[in-house]
Amino acid sequence: MSSTSSSATNSSRTTSERFIASAEAHSAHNYHPLPIVVASADGAWMTDVEGRRYLDMLAGYSALNFGHGNRRLIDAAKTQLDRVTLTSRAFHHDRFAEFCTRLAELCGKEMVLPMNTGAEAVETAVKTARKWGYRVKGVPDGRAKIVVAAGNFHGRTTTVISFSTDEEARADFGPYTPGFEIVPYGDLEALRAAVTDDTVAVLIEPIQGEAGVLVPPAGYLPGVRELTRERGVLFIADEIQSGLGRTGRTFACEHEGVVPDVYLLGKALGGGVVPVSAVVADADVLGVFKPGEHGSTFGGNPLACAVGLEVVDMLSTGEFQQRATELGEHLHAELGLLAGAGTVTEVRGRGLWAGVDIAPSYGTGREISEKLMEKGVLVKDTHGSTIRIAPPLVISKEDLDWGLAQLRAVLA
Ligand SMILES: *Cc1c(COP(=O)(O)O)cnc(C)c1O
Repeated sequence: MSSTSSSATNSSRTTSERFIASAEAHSAHNYHPLPIVVASADGAWMTDVEGRRYLDMLAGYSALNFGHGNRRLIDAAKTQLDRVTLTSRAFHHDRFAEFCTRLAELCGKEMVLPMNTGAEAVETAVKTARKWGYRVKGVPDGRAKIVVAAGNFHGRTTTVISFSTDEEARADFGPYTPGFEIVPYGDLEALRAAVTDDTVAVLIEPIQGEAGVLVPPAGYLPGVRELTRERGVLFIADEIQSGLGRTGRTFACEHEGVVPDVYLLGKALGGGVVPVSAVVADADVLGVFKPGEHGSTFGGNPLACAVGLEVVDMLSTGEFQQRATELGEHLHAELGLLAGAGTVTEVRGRGLWAGVDIAPSYGTGREISEKLMEKGVLVKDTHGSTIRIAPPLVISKEDLDWGLAQLRAVLA
């Protein structure tokens, strides 16, 4: 809080200020949210406790690909709420098989292992790859290595941050989990050099989201596919942020005609309603698990399956992917003009997803995000002077244009 607002009496503070002060006093400061307090949301728009409206151009880091309060998803959830919400995996329930079958089909794979959060899907993939390495590939016990890329973001658990290169994410959280090798992102030769007979998997994001929406050089993903196939190594694609329509395809890997061995899904899979994540692969990979070797009380629960199934249904028609392609072309054309004008130094991304490097003289990403907020547009900075634009795929072209006009005004 600024000194003026903290010295003000309780009654003279706005509703937002009171909520924020209370949150700061009673919750851990592991985030630095923009000073907006959301009370409701619909489609691409959010309304704060003061009744101000904001265009959501972040969409919960792609967890809200289908927008806030999407009718189909809310109805699916409501119907399921009245039937059964949780069984644990001690019993079967009647939404489980259909969800797993349909999601596997969407991915062109045979099996699904449902979890809740993205980090859990990544943890599950690490365990899958290690077990597969020992049981199928024949790696000597305790020697399994997983190669990852610098600048990665795969979640926040102790094992996952063990192979992060972001000091903020890692510092003071050791000792770190061994068994990971970090190579530069987009560098096929470095990857080739890092793979040994003990390598069980290469784990990468087909587009690095948190790093600033970094698209690897053309040919990189096919190169990773070829190398991993040659060396008998699993290719695990973390599509938790890039997948499920965001880039204009169901999976970002599709842009390069690549099919990984393992897809990691999360965020949008829960339709912005509940956390739903999954590891999706063929039976020769996910078949390594036997009862008792892995699990989750909430993973694959009836409510999650009902919502996830609706998400899969919505993606099966291709309409959202088509929308992301068309609106994405427009977004990138408009951002390209800003880059030409010198206020923006670089724009990256695919589909309705962009990392925008603002010329440092216009302020940090945080400052730009705050100025945009004052104009009614919500985005989030990543590193330094980069902002990330990822509106819900249901945003109208008019709203997208209005949001871009606010960005132009802030940079004017
Ligand atoms: C968000 C994200 C995760 C972690 O997901 P959580 O649900 O926050 O645990 C993992 N990988 C990628 C690429 C992500 O964007």
